[in-house]
Amino acid sequence: MEIKFSTKIDKLPPYLFAEIDKLRTKIRAEGREIISLGIGDPDRPTPSVIIDALKKASELGENHHYPSYEGLFELREEIGKWFNKRYNINFNPETEILTVIGSKEGIGHLPFAFVERDDIVLIPDPAYPVYRAGTTFAEGIPYFMPLLEENNFLPDLDKVPIDIRNKAKLMFINYPNNPTTAKATKEFFEKVVDFADKYNIIVVHDAAYNEIYFNEPPLSFFQVRGAKEVGIEFHSFSKTYNMTGWRIGFAVGNEKIIKGLGNIKSNLDSGIFHPIQYAAIAAIRSYDEIRAKNCELYKRRCELVLKHLDDLGWKYFKPDATFYVWVKCINGYDSKRMAQKLLQEEGIVVTPGVGFGNYGEGYIRVALTVDEKVLEKVFMKIENIKW
Ligand code: PLP
Repeated sequence: MEIKFSTKIDKLPPYLFAEIDKLRTKIRAEGREIISLGIGDPDRPTPSVIIDALKKASELGENHHYPSYEGLFELREEIGKWFNKRYNINFNPETEILTVIGSKEGIGHLPFAFVERDDIVLIPDPAYPVYRAGTTFAEGIPYFMPLLEENNFLPDLDKVPIDIRNKAKLMFINYPNNPTTAKATKEFFEKVVDFADKYNIIVVHDAAYNEIYFNEPPLSFFQVRGAKEVGIEFHSFSKTYNMTGWRIGFAVGNEKIIKGLGNIKSNLDSGIFHPIQYAAIAAIRSYDEIRAKNCELYKRRCELVLKHLDDLGWKYFKPDATFYVWVKCINGYDSKRMAQKLLQEEGIVVTPGVGFGNYGEGYIRVALTVDEKVLEKVFMKIENIKW
């Protein structure tokens, strides 16, 4: 029998990091130390108040059955209350809030509900790769909107050609942004709402990093007038509460968009284990303390990294949110070669910007997910490298 992949799989972008992976395996085999600043996975454990809630809920047999598709009403209610306190916006827990198995799952499945074959989907470049993958699986066609430093890494909607606007069904945006760390302004969100309304485009705002910030709290897309007519916003427990492995997030927004996503999901998955949902309730109830502690930690690490980058004379986009630093490549290195050199010579793993799209070229992404002592060591090692 001949087993062939579908053309959807063929259309996924090529895997760019095979050489880097090989190099990493070789270094590990040589017994050399590897320090990873590569992935966006908090190093600190999930707070005990959340673990305790999971333990307690998992003791009860009634929590061992298939969960509810849309998420426990208690959890959606708690999300609604939190959203109102944090952003001063109301969502109806019955119809405007949906839990997802991590925001990745919701983001990846959303295009199935709204995109027909050959519809255009507007996607930022550089970006979290799932926007493109979800679009491709739904047989949509990505149109990449460059994120340029001169525009503070906000897409220039005026540059999207008219025929593309007319054919577009969906637009992804993500602020605070991975990988650039940029934050959105209210004016930008207002422009997005006007644009979406005029051209009938659903806006998908990925707010996975909204609760990781150092000064001014990032905005929700729904803090601008008219957003509920056009959009959905994904939030994650992963980064806010150090819960990447637990797989839980939520979406809020326009009732019909939530309904479309819910429809796809109820046909594909069976919700989230109830004890994890009870743990999520405990997390939200401790939001203030957990957020403050986490943000304080990342802020200290960020200041340390920026100081060392300044000492080295390396350029970067100054972050005010997320736990990344978007660093410019030096001495004419492209992002893959710079990442390879850091790994080859000193065992330091960073992510080449080109992995997030062509406009990510010229940068590397450094994750602040190791402690300060390790970061100090990283910069001692970098000083040994001749560029
Ligand atoms: N969105 C962005 C921009 C991310 O960087 C990530 C994870 O790295 C996610 C969404 C997915 O988060 P999760 O599925 O853990 O909620």
